Amino acid sequence: MPTPTNAYAATAPDAPMAPFSFERRDPQASDVAIDILYCGVCHSDLHTAKGEWEGTLYPCVPGHEIVGRVVAVGDAVTRFKVGDIAGVGCMVGSCGHCPSCDDGEEQYCETTGFVGTYNGPDTVMGGHTFGGYSDHIVVDEGFVLKVTHDEGDLAAVAPLLCAGITTYSPLRHWKVGPGQKVGIVGLGGLGHMGVKIAAAMGAEVYVFSTSPGKRDDAIRLGAKDLIVSKDADAMATHANSFDFILNTVAAAHDLDQFLALLKRDGTMTLVGVPETPHPSPSVGNLVFRRRALAGSLIGGIAETQEMLDFCKEHGLTSDIEMIAIQDIETAYDRMVKSDVKYRFVIDMQSLKAA
Ligand code: NAP
Ligand code: ZN
Repeated sequence: MPTPTNAYAATAPDAPMAPFSFERRDPQASDVAIDILYCGVCHSDLHTAKGEWEGTLYPCVPGHEIVGRVVAVGDAVTRFKVGDIAGVGCMVGSCGHCPSCDDGEEQYCETTGFVGTYNGPDTVMGGHTFGGYSDHIVVDEGFVLKVTHDEGDLAAVAPLLCAGITTYSPLRHWKVGPGQKVGIVGLGGLGHMGVKIAAAMGAEVYVFSTSPGKRDDAIRLGAKDLIVSKDADAMATHANSFDFILNTVAAAHDLDQFLALLKRDGTMTLVGVPETPHPSPSVGNLVFRRRALAGSLIGGIAETQEMLDFCKEHGLTSDIEMIAIQDIETAYDRMVKSDVKYRFVIDMQSLKAA
């Protein structure tokens, strides 16, 4: 029997999130059924729910930073049993046989594209997928992660499933490590995980921020300093000195001010996906020092497990502010104002009161 599921959904771009119920599929042979304990609030949830990106399917139940307890498994499931703590991130499926899927980079699936945890096609129930702002989810075992952090840390583990992997993957891909000077642009959900992870990888980390008041936090999180990006003199003292910059900003902005800080052969990788395009950067900033401007999308499932294990080993979780689901619109408003320290996480117990 399908499971009645309670959730919060947006029914239109300008409609506030409100209670919504639907049914999750019965676990199929390779499925894991999870009662959701916590779900992080990613800026992508806001972009999608508010229709800032094209293609939002309504009703929209966001949420792709999910931690919960396994309550049922299909006959063919081998890696999970009832009672286990499990995580689900941004993907719940992919084609499984294209070159990217073969390489464990399911996020770049070349045939069907990855199936999003929300706003993707639901091939079993029809319609589209519903995410983690809900009390229950059913996911193919191949897209479920093992969580080994202490149970007391689970709310702060949830954001690792997107903010953690989205920063870990490019830091690994561009081989960040000891002896390197690394910049993180934007100290929000992604940015604060980027600081923690890059510091744990041994790099010297600097934060670029529009919020001078975040300096003490940046240093506490592992940065050497915070550079206010609007302060041209402070920026100029770091010209041509960075090996790698990870840009997490969720709004269109001037990329040249950061490209100019890269060394010869340095790279700036964009992970923020603003609603409107960035102004085109200057070609000169790229060609004269053979600098690169790149992008990166979340991370594959195997790499997500590697990231969770890395975070466990290094004692890393997210700095969170727990909210009830009824407060989601206030959380979105604060997120738009860069007022989040540093990730909102929904306590799914609050759904029961909805
Ligand atoms: P967030 O928590 O809202 O953090 C974004 C930070 O960017 C803010 O805290 C702020 O930091 C800075 N910022 C905001 N507006 C700015 C502006 N106008 N100019 C300069 N800086 C500004 O968001 P998030 O959840 O980290 O997500 C960041 C972006 O990444 C979003 O666009 C999201 O959709 C995207 N994303 C991409 C992937 C991927 O796979 N590529 C995955 C997840 C999310 P300061 O106060 O320090 O300036
Ligand atoms: Zn996300």
